[in-house]
Amino acid sequence: MDLTLTTEEQEVRKWVRTFVDKEVRPLEHTVLERERRHEIGLRPDELKELQNKAKSAGFFGVQTPEKYGGMELGAVMSALIETEIGRTFVPFRFGGHADNILYYANDQQKDTYLVPTINGDRKSCFGITEPGAGSDAKQIRTRAVRDGDDWVINGEKTFISSGHDADFCMVFAVTDPGKGADGGVTCFLVDREMGWTSSPIDTMGEWGPASLTFDNVRVPHANILGEEGHGFDLAMQWIGRGRYMIPARSIGACERLLDMAMEHARTRVTFGKPIADRQAIQWMIADSAVEVEALRWLVLVAAWQVDQGMDSRHAQSMAKLFGGIKANEVVDRVMQIHGGMGYTRELPVERWYRELRLTRIYEGTDEMQRRTISRNLLKGYARVQGHLG
Ligand SMILES: Cc1cc2nc3c(=O)[nH]c(=O)nc-3n(C[C@H](O)[C@H](O)[C@H](O)COP(=O)(O)OP(=O)(O)OC[C@H]3O[C@@H](n4cnc5c(N)ncnc54)[C@H](O)[C@@H]3O)c2cc1C
Repeated sequence: MDLTLTTEEQEVRKWVRTFVDKEVRPLEHTVLERERRHEIGLRPDELKELQNKAKSAGFFGVQTPEKYGGMELGAVMSALIETEIGRTFVPFRFGGHADNILYYANDQQKDTYLVPTINGDRKSCFGITEPGAGSDAKQIRTRAVRDGDDWVINGEKTFISSGHDADFCMVFAVTDPGKGADGGVTCFLVDREMGWTSSPIDTMGEWGPASLTFDNVRVPHANILGEEGHGFDLAMQWIGRGRYMIPARSIGACERLLDMAMEHARTRVTFGKPIADRQAIQWMIADSAVEVEALRWLVLVAAWQVDQGMDSRHAQSMAKLFGGIKANEVVDRVMQIHGGMGYTRELPVERWYRELRLTRIYEGTDEMQRRTISRNLLKGYARVQGHLG
């Protein structure tokens, strides 16, 4: 069993680490200041400028196929990159990315939706959640009814990330109520100009999801993504991607937070000694370091299984569940180690505290991951010994 990174993995990781340190982290102060004035932390033109800098160094499209100008890197490499980006709270991501399910587009749709999204000229959003259907996504009620060469969509979506500034939405709607999610849900590519409206939802984090309203929105039949009736499979594929990338990003946040906690513990003196000399503080640091390391391996195993073409859903659910819980425990301890300063808005600890809370909710709550993991074990789809057993 060889757990060392390849030379390529080490080199790419080093490049990303340097880029994040030199180009992204210096923006942290500005981003915090702006967010505290309720302004957008990193403006689209600034994000684009950073992405262009990376692109000019050949860094573009982490998982995007080479045929579309991307680097087509594997899941392990992508997880390592995501961890590096997670070391800053600046909402940065490399350019050249498009949603995994857009690759199911036909040639014409690829020209209109996939390629412009990769190039950063168009912005997508993913719409499955509704006021009455979150975890139980099969209960969606948004309805699409065929009318000649069009479909007419009516319904409401909620909590849609980027929903207020996206150019188009991948909307999941019921096309055959008799069949339900198994054959009766279809994914449509719906441009904003076709008539849907959005309104932002204020959250405790800096992420601004939106609710979307579809009121007799007319969409050409040609805008079905994939096959009619097979939308639910696409939705599950889209959500599945986040199950190792979300915890991968949390690893980076936890590493950085722990560095901050140790720095503070070494310098903060109480009762004549640095608090780093106190066992209560040492144990918080030790427990956090062990848990971050355990999370790293859960994420890398899940990503490695993806690269091997194995069914990694069980491993990914484990990584998503453990990552959400542990990242929240780590940030809580880091805040505790900082005392009152941790609770202020002078330090970014409280920002991470709010942001990391989301990782236990979106793209499958903790409870849904537990449901999947226990079902896999109880039904014999997975074994407690894992894939080595
Ligand atoms: C910031 C943000 C961004 C988001 N982005 C998107 C997006 O881009 N696109 C999109 O479609 N959706 C998005 N979502 C929606 C997100 O995926 C849902 O919020 C999530 O799936 C949970 O659904 P819900 O909020 O309806 O909670 P519910 O499903 O109502 O669950 C409420 C609680 O009950 C628990 N629960 C539910 N069922 C069970 C059960 N059977 N057993 C035990 N416990 C249960 C849940 O785990 C949770 O704790 C986003 C949400 C947020 C907050």
